[in-house]
Amino acid sequence: MGVRLFLKTSKDIICSSEISPYNYYKIRYCMNRQNFISELQKQSKIIWDVIVIGGGATGLGIALDSASRGYKTLLLEQSDFAKATSSRSTKLVHGGVRYLAQGDLLLVMEALHERGLMLKNAPHLTFNQEFVIPVYTIWDAIMYTVGLTFYDLLAGRLSMGRSYFINREKTLVRLPLLKGKGLIGGIVYHDGQFDDSRMAMALARACAERGGLVLNYCKVCSMLKDTSGRINGVTAMDMASGSEFSLNAHLVVNATGVFTDDIARMDNPSSKATIKPSQGVHIVLDQSFLQSSSAIMIPKTDDGRVLFAIPWYNEVVVGTTDTPLDTISLEPVALEKEIDFILRTAERYLVKPPSRKDILCIFAGLRPLAANPDNPASTKEVSRRHKITLSPTGLLSITGGKWTTYRRMAEETIDKAIKAGILRNRKCVTSDLKLTSLSDNNSAGRLHIYGEGSSQIEKIIEESPASGKPLVPGLPYTPAEIIWICRNEMPVNIEDVLARRTRALFLNARASAVIAPEVARIMADELGFDTDWQRDQIESFNDLIKNYL
Ligand SMILES: Cc1cc2nc3c(=O)[nH]c(=O)nc-3n(C[C@H](O)[C@H](O)[C@H](O)COP(=O)(O)OP(=O)(O)OC[C@H]3O[C@@H](n4cnc5c(N)ncnc54)[C@H](O)[C@@H]3O)c2cc1C
Repeated sequence: MGVRLFLKTSKDIICSSEISPYNYYKIRYCMNRQNFISELQKQSKIIWDVIVIGGGATGLGIALDSASRGYKTLLLEQSDFAKATSSRSTKLVHGGVRYLAQGDLLLVMEALHERGLMLKNAPHLTFNQEFVIPVYTIWDAIMYTVGLTFYDLLAGRLSMGRSYFINREKTLVRLPLLKGKGLIGGIVYHDGQFDDSRMAMALARACAERGGLVLNYCKVCSMLKDTSGRINGVTAMDMASGSEFSLNAHLVVNATGVFTDDIARMDNPSSKATIKPSQGVHIVLDQSFLQSSSAIMIPKTDDGRVLFAIPWYNEVVVGTTDTPLDTISLEPVALEKEIDFILRTAERYLVKPPSRKDILCIFAGLRPLAANPDNPASTKEVSRRHKITLSPTGLLSITGGKWTTYRRMAEETIDKAIKAGILRNRKCVTSDLKLTSLSDNNSAGRLHIYGEGSSQIEKIIEESPASGKPLVPGLPYTPAEIIWICRNEMPVNIEDVLARRTRALFLNARASAVIAPEVARIMADELGFDTDWQRDQIESFNDLIKNYL
């Protein structure tokens, strides 16, 4: 029999419903950071089945896979979910046309299959995007038409639309601002597009709904080992309060992307460097530079990379670069030469050449390259396929891969632990696991990106119509969304809200600075912070946006 729960404010648990035993479990695990911290304190004696270190695409995917198989799962992220590479991608759900050219058929087929599953299971965050490759020689026209037709065939029944050649006139109708000089036509093909950090939030929520505990701003500081030297847990610190935890687990997974070596050294301090970062930069421009719903794909730029110009929300994302770096940071900064390269390449193809002052945002992300442990100066690219390794002490590490294949990577990671006898055998269920019950991506208008949260946001607007008005012209976000985010998505600071729960910072860094004070005020109201907190937040956000301009 159910019990009725009435909850007053967001400072309590947010969910209120008729509670069946199952719902009670769900409610305990509704996304609320304070409750998660209390839960961790209460459960300090329990042994988790799985502790995942890292709250990017890889870690969140593994935590969801694990929780949905019924393992008792804890995920610890040192900063915010998707703070690192997972919010800084090109936002493509793709098989990787580039890997096809390199002859890596298995990788492409695997990614195309996962692309199909991601579009099916997260219709509120993924879209079918049309791309056009402009071609300037007959040879390129033949080569790309054949290659992309093959790309479609590899996708099988999960194909997103047929690829075909269009002549010069039709290419210029689709891409009115593409330079026409020397152009003979274009190849049209389809791939997926998504919102990376909102997808991370959808994974975190789905994991929590299945009893997993996902905690942002909780840094793993060391490994715990038993008397035989086997890893049996971690120590971690709540970065908000400074509290420390000692947490035991049957399995510890290292899913920390470019930070993998730091965790490996907690296991074995003399382990050699295996990762060298390479930076990829994107710039965001106003739609007026593309004026099309089709994206442009340039298969080979001067430095041999692929360059995209993709409509994203109401703007255009252009990138990317590939610059080896010596340092790893949570907040990588674009180099001038990378920005220049993107602007110069865009200028070669676009009628309206973008300049530095037109840039709405610049963001940089780090991909892991394989360092040669015996010769740190030399690097070779990690195979774009992921790599899973189990250390002699039982630390399971996963590196590489891409957002598109996060689900498959998670399945293989947990399967590896089962094969090694660390976890009891339970079947993976994520290929049919829906991340929303919304049936299509338009049912809730622009708010569909919040999944089921869209109706709760609508309710907030119904109760207070002023909360439904955008905070600033040029960005769509409303106070109602910020209120809902505070109540449901565990933001700790205004950057979490402006960079990853909404995409304000990535879409228009200057406009995001304009709304920062109002966002700070709403957060303070909802989460119980004072005016000093608001002032500090605005100051540090204004510092941060310098990296994005
Ligand atoms: C420029 C660029 C463009 C890309 N574009 C695409 C694309 O369009 N499509 C696609 O499919 N893929 C793309 N990718 C690849 C994709 O973004 C990555 O494969 C994916 O985001 C990696 O996720 P991750 O979880 O492994 O790493 P990350 O997102 O970096 O997450 C690792 C996390 O571990 C945390 N961490 C580190 N140390 C600790 C600790 N001690 N305690 C707790 N937490 C810790 C970090 O804070 C971080 O959040 C792109 C990559 C780059 C660089």
